[in-house]
This record gives sequence, C-alpha cells and structure tokens, in this order.
Amino acid sequence: MDDACGGNPAPKPEAENTDKGPPFAECVLCREPTEYPESVRGITLCPVCEWREAERAACSG
Ligand SMILES: [Zn+2]
Repeated sequence: MDDACGGNPAPKPEAENTDKGPPFAECVLCREPTEYPESVRGITLCPVCEWREAERAACSG
C-alpha cells in the first residue's frame, strides 16, 4: 500500500521571472532590460544598444 500522503511537502516549482520584471535598469534607447541594476546612475544601455553605440563611436566618420 503506497502512502500518497506521507506528509512530504510538494517540491517548489522553479520560480521564473515572469511576475515582476527583473530589478534591472531599462535601456534608455529601446527600454529593454539591461545588465545593470537600477541603482546604476546615468545612461544604461542594453547589450545590443551598447554594442551599437560602441560601433558608432569606433566608426565615426
Ligand atoms: Zn537598447
């Protein structure tokens, strides 16, 4: 006879970051979440915009 109610709590499902947005600052250009926390001051860029900005700076002219 299997004891289906052994008193073991059900394992918690892995929490996914779906309820709240991650505490990351938004990209100032496209509002995508960046890799920087909101506590970072100044302009925050997502990896894509950061890369594009770097490329623009490198290829100015
Ligand atoms: Zn961006």
